[in-house]
Amino acid sequence: MTIETRLTLAGQRTDGTFNSVAPPIYQTATFRFEGINRTKGYDYTRSGNPTRSALEEVLADLEGGAGAVVVSSGMAAISTVLATFNAGDHIICSHDCYGGTERLLCTLRSQGKIEVTFSDLRDPLALVDAVQPNTRAVWVETPSNPLLRIVDLEAVAGFAGSHGLLLIVDNTFLSPLFQQPIAFGADVVVHSTTKYINGHSDVVGGAIISRTEELHRLHAATANTHGTTAAPFDSWLVLRGLRTLPLRIRQHEANALAVARFLESHPAVERVFYPGLESHEGHRLAARQQHGFGGVVSFQLRGSEDALNTLLLATEVFTLAESLGGVESLIEHPATMSHASMRPEQRAAAGINDRIIRLSVGIESECDLIADLAQALDAAVLHDAPLQGAAYAPAVPNDSDASVAAEALHV
Ligand SMILES: *Cc1c(COP(=O)(O)O)cnc(C)c1O
Repeated sequence: MTIETRLTLAGQRTDGTFNSVAPPIYQTATFRFEGINRTKGYDYTRSGNPTRSALEEVLADLEGGAGAVVVSSGMAAISTVLATFNAGDHIICSHDCYGGTERLLCTLRSQGKIEVTFSDLRDPLALVDAVQPNTRAVWVETPSNPLLRIVDLEAVAGFAGSHGLLLIVDNTFLSPLFQQPIAFGADVVVHSTTKYINGHSDVVGGAIISRTEELHRLHAATANTHGTTAAPFDSWLVLRGLRTLPLRIRQHEANALAVARFLESHPAVERVFYPGLESHEGHRLAARQQHGFGGVVSFQLRGSEDALNTLLLATEVFTLAESLGGVESLIEHPATMSHASMRPEQRAAAGINDRIIRLSVGIESECDLIADLAQALDAAVLHDAPLQGAAYAPAVPNDSDASVAAEALHV
């Protein structure tokens, strides 16, 4: 069966009592025993809950893993995986990882719990320099946030495999629909289900998917021990959101490509970062290892800080807010919002300057999104003398080009 069909069926036919088509929400903390060691498979919701299990089964299926653990946030997924390491273990991590991941790794390092090296993993040779006798894992985020850099998963998996290192991939930006790291040799995949998997900006959640049964048991036991597992109602909402992911993600991608092409043609825009553009340095690799380019587009604005502020406040369809992957379009300023938790020197090393703006392109109609950005960019230009001096003419988006390209790139 195709992914669309598997997602539609997920969790159905689990209610043998009343045959409800939508899976029930087992909103219970505890389960009745029928004798010593006799249960119907569940005893206490921190350790296991049927609603959560329905979501776990389908996530493991989508990622091609032996099992999944659904936890209370993306950071809960990351901290649960990190909790499985021993004192003194060394981890090599993408230098432009999610700000919260960087903060957690640095906190654990300052507590003497782990060692960490941040490296630009676009160059697989960086691993040769970073590896130490106590290295246990490589932590990769691809595409990265917010510059959408692409790491070659096959190359990193090859290195990790030959050095006995665990490869952990944060797959939040693409979802299992557009990238399946386990197929390249990753051992563990983590997600913030808050983003594309739930897709409706109404739940904070996370998941850990493991390649082997043994790793899955370790992550399930660690989540239970640390109490990071997700609530039944949140699990139910995420499963509900996940059913429409195949439809949503295609629309996110088509809109993102159209927006990226529009921005690329705009004189007030210095640079556009979107792996679907031929101008992106990771374009060919992304086309090879991903099934799609995703819905996040970043760009660097020309002009003054005033222009930046005006732009961020002038959009009407794009809402000024952190997060991504929901049906609604969002605009944000990484340096002061999503990446504020990153140390300034780390931010600089990752190339995230103060002029970068990140868009999470939603599923609204393409023409409304482009018209909104066009009027906001016009407003920004009005607030910026240097920009007006540049031969500025508002760009007219070329819809037909963008949609032909979107079609050609589709899977
Ligand atoms: C949002 C995000 C996280 C953290 O997830 P939360 O659900 O906010 O805890 C981790 N990694 C990536 C790539 C993210 O975008």
